[in-house]
Amino acid sequence: MNFEQHLQSRLAQQKAANWYRQRNTIAHQTSLGQQLVDHTMPVVNFCSNDYLGLSVHPKVKAAAGQALHEFGVGSGASHLVSGHSHYHHTLEQALAQMTGRARALLLSTGYMANVGLITALAGKTQHILCDKLNHASIIDACQLAAAKNGVKQFIRYRHCDLAHLEQLLQKAPPHSLVVSDGVFSMDGNCAPLGSIAALCQKYHAVFVVDDAHGFGCLGDQGAGSVQAAGLSERDVPVYMGTLGKAVGGFGAFIAGSEALIETLIQFARPYIYTTALPPAVAAANLQSLQLIAHSKTLRAALNSNIAIFTTRIAAHCQHSAHWQQVTLLPSQTAIQPIILGCEKTTMSVAQSLMDAGFWVGAIRPPTVPKGTARLRITLSASHSASQIEALIAALDHALVQTMTPPASHNDE
Ligand SMILES: *Cc1c(COP(=O)(O)O)cnc(C)c1O
Repeated sequence: MNFEQHLQSRLAQQKAANWYRQRNTIAHQTSLGQQLVDHTMPVVNFCSNDYLGLSVHPKVKAAAGQALHEFGVGSGASHLVSGHSHYHHTLEQALAQMTGRARALLLSTGYMANVGLITALAGKTQHILCDKLNHASIIDACQLAAAKNGVKQFIRYRHCDLAHLEQLLQKAPPHSLVVSDGVFSMDGNCAPLGSIAALCQKYHAVFVVDDAHGFGCLGDQGAGSVQAAGLSERDVPVYMGTLGKAVGGFGAFIAGSEALIETLIQFARPYIYTTALPPAVAAANLQSLQLIAHSKTLRAALNSNIAIFTTRIAAHCQHSAHWQQVTLLPSQTAIQPIILGCEKTTMSVAQSLMDAGFWVGAIRPPTVPKGTARLRITLSASHSASQIEALIAALDHALVQTMTPPASHNDE
């Protein structure tokens, strides 16, 4: 078998498992929330993480335009060479202030922030305890850190299972890391941050929270799930957030003490060895933060859309037979999963929705555990109530078409 055939056979296996991934090309953005996919009809996007619609906010676009005019497109170098503009610097200060920490450090992506912080902070002896459903970038970061240190120190605890975490903490040396998503990216539930923080205090572990889906959406002034849980830097010494989701831009940050940030500047390789994000993006992020902190209507619109969706969907589940085979997760966030289980069914329902003008995520293993393929519907402040109603009607129709009727129990 030559190399080309070897690749073809791997791809064939992926297709046979219904795990084959394909991209949809957005040909044109018509108006807020409407996009032309693959040059066909306009669809309403229900799979973006742009939860507040800030990626197309006029003030955000204007801020990017102004910085683009001043600095050009690329930053030209890494932060430690000559890529650190006043926009990057002011953005870091705004992030520190918003999260109530002494400092914040800007990184080019959330993936790199996780790899950087976990590899820089994990020593040779400490354990890294990680929720089983944490984001892939955290899992990869932990594996890299463990491989580098040559010890078996990376342990995954059962999802949000405090008893399991405590068992593991009892055997963990001081300054071990406990890492959790603030809001789980495929389930939409919030981690029990207060209880995990209390365990970390008890066992002298360091709590790291990845708040990619909480920052901007949750908490007073959108400061995220740690603040919404009433926790401070003492409880969560390492706070990570991203800027490509609710902030509507691109990039990520880590917030914490002076010593934490200086340690990362010295030792976090994905910080040191990569080009700083474009100054125009930093300027746009900065403008978005101001809107998030000062506009109550953005988060209110998102929360109202979440309430519309969850009440309507719960009513369907109670009253329609073909909804009995789907599982809803108790999510109060913008991430609303509908578990169908089978990959093929999930793909086919997602395609029916696309044909009806609604673009939703179809999420399969290995992104989620086997047997839990799902639609991942994400809500945004920019959706209208009628768009959400129409999505649910289309979903109802697609389920009637796709789901086999439940087996009857007449003989009982
Ligand atoms: C999206 C995401 C990341 C990665 O962030 P990027 O900026 O897209 O690289 C990290 N963690 C979680 C939980 C995420 O959902």
